[in-house]
Amino acid sequence: MTYDVIVLGIGGMGSAAACHLARRGQRVLGIDQFGPAHALGSSHGGSRIYRQSYFEDPAYVPLLLRAYELWHDLASDSGRDVFTETGGLYVGRPDGLTFGGSLRASEQWGLKHDVLDPTEAQRRFPTVRLQPDEFALFEEKAGIARPETTVAAHLDLAEAAGAELRYDEKVLGWESTDSSVTVTTVAGTYTAGALVISPGAWAPKLLAEIGVPMVVERQVMHWITPESGEAAFDSSHHPVYICGDGPDQIYGFPAIDGEGGGVKISFFRAGTPCDPDTIDRTVHPEEIARLQQRIVTTFPALSGPHQDAKTCMYTTTPDEHFVVAKHPDHANVTVACGFSGHGFKFVPVIGEVLADLAIDGATKHPIALFDPARCAVSA
Ligand SMILES: Cc1cc2nc3c(=O)[nH]c(=O)nc-3n(C[C@H](O)[C@H](O)[C@H](O)COP(=O)(O)OP(=O)(O)OC[C@H]3O[C@@H](n4cnc5c(N)ncnc54)[C@H](O)[C@@H]3O)c2cc1C
Repeated sequence: MTYDVIVLGIGGMGSAAACHLARRGQRVLGIDQFGPAHALGSSHGGSRIYRQSYFEDPAYVPLLLRAYELWHDLASDSGRDVFTETGGLYVGRPDGLTFGGSLRASEQWGLKHDVLDPTEAQRRFPTVRLQPDEFALFEEKAGIARPETTVAAHLDLAEAAGAELRYDEKVLGWESTDSSVTVTTVAGTYTAGALVISPGAWAPKLLAEIGVPMVVERQVMHWITPESGEAAFDSSHHPVYICGDGPDQIYGFPAIDGEGGGVKISFFRAGTPCDPDTIDRTVHPEEIARLQQRIVTTFPALSGPHQDAKTCMYTTTPDEHFVVAKHPDHANVTVACGFSGHGFKFVPVIGEVLADLAIDGATKHPIALFDPARCAVSA
């Protein structure tokens, strides 16, 4: 057999898996239908929020703490600007998930944080306006991961450790027996002892048999040119943030793209179902108008001309938790998908988990929440 492990899909998660596997001495083949660190899946757009006080579920916190170590390792091993710590601010009503859930996770795991009322929040962070019944949780250990740079760093480190990476080669299908896997692409057939499938938005097409109903959603990222200038949003003093709950929930970043680069802000969960092969990549005037209306309430200093927008895709499970597990029917196949719009901050630790599962069949990391059986429906 030529390879120990084939990684199908070397975007965010797959590039990290290929890196961890190759650095553990595995003979790795990584395959992607597009080029390295491309902008056609879910890992592009310049920035992703990393945070620890995790409102989605406190069960993610141990993974986030390990990811934090690995982000720093990746930065030093690759010499690239993959991660910047800025602090994070999570704003909402006490009974809402964004503030309430962040506080719960923070208290449960003893994470350092400050709770700010509207006056104190505005004193410390003058760009943000809270409603009278809102609070903010601030934590220092939050910041910005750079998706394209991260994917490129993992791919380079994987190659340096001996991985073979094939691009612009779509996988058409795969088969597994007790002792091997065979992957067929538009260019050939490859065999290995194990397979990791990390196909992002193509998971509903490639992994339908695991029975998890996943919806691929078109999301829009926006960049604004603040009329009052970018200085107030400089990353030396401005945190990443998530504000509000429900369909009006927004998230954003400091200005990190240099003078005139704009400031990125977007709705968290305002996506529309799409097909990854036919997604509408045009951003429409009404989408821009809706965001600009929302900005006025919480970030008046961010009012100004709309500079740019890009589309991207979430692959969302019914409970918005990930799927990371051994394939239910094939012991030598590992699956990683359904990252539901919040997976990037975990990329390095998911790479470690996938390497554990592919090599040892188990991991010491807590991944029970990601078992596909929790929401699988029979075909
Ligand atoms: C707008 C937006 C904002 C986000 N913000 C955040 C954030 O702030 N914080 C955070 O933690 N997360 C965030 N996320 C989520 C995070 O970016 C994703 O969870 C993560 O990037 C998913 O990585 P992935 O490896 O699953 O997908 P991808 O990186 O898309 O990788 C999948 C790869 O599989 C390849 N592939 C698929 N099918 C085939 C095939 N048949 N043959 C060969 N190759 C194939 C694809 O080409 C692709 O390269 C955001 C996502 C979006 C879209």
